[in-house]
Amino acid sequence: MTFSGILKQLMKNGNLTPYRLSKDLKVHQTTIKNWLDGQTPGPENIQKVADRFNVSIDFMLGFEKLITCKDCGLVYDPIDVDDSAEHKEYHYKKLHAISKFGDLLDYNEREFLKRKSKRIMDNPSIPINSKVDACIEYFRTFFSISLEKNEFSLDHVDFETYVSMLLNQIYWKDILGDQLYNLMVLKYGRKPGIIEGKIFYNIENEEDERITLQSISILEHCDITIEQDNQIADYINYILSK
Ligand SMILES: [Zn+2]
Repeated sequence: MTFSGILKQLMKNGNLTPYRLSKDLKVHQTTIKNWLDGQTPGPENIQKVADRFNVSIDFMLGFEKLITCKDCGLVYDPIDVDDSAEHKEYHYKKLHAISKFGDLLDYNEREFLKRKSKRIMDNPSIPINSKVDACIEYFRTFFSISLEKNEFSLDHVDFETYVSMLLNQIYWKDILGDQLYNLMVLKYGRKPGIIEGKIFYNIENEEDERITLQSISILEHCDITIEQDNQIADYINYILSK
């Protein structure tokens, strides 16, 4: 598709008139009309248009079919009406959840943090206060997944409550070891709310058999690069050298 065709579709999806777009971009209405008639603008204006629709220059020129949203991380097709409607809903929910619960981790960040924090917690030479920090990061990865599973519902409990609910499960005593477990309990307390053996808070409070501790075994298949692996090793050495 050409620039003109893509622009037409984006304007249609966003119910945007040439007049409105000309105001948004601070260009003359005739300019918009020329673009819609097939003219491709110069680099500066392509950038403006791309920014206005939250897409890339490559997308506007037809070289890219999918866009990764800078704010919510979702990969979607802005030309496809259903896809962009779905994105809009996801985007709105996720950004609201972030403003309420703090930054959420995406898949790659989670895999990296899970591996990193697990290594720190499992290393007997590392001081306990560093292990507590690592454990908090470790739980943050699950908290992000839990929010995602609940479609970023604002009814989800906050991080502190979520951790206290995980700690209420005997399972974690084995995973973390007595010393780390007790320190975490001291910091966050223990509250019922998540069924033993599960790691996702369920706002509907329904049994979901798919959501079990098996999810934790994802840990063993962490998908991280050698470079990230080295970063973890460097970080552990840094802690040990202190
Ligand atoms: Zn988005």
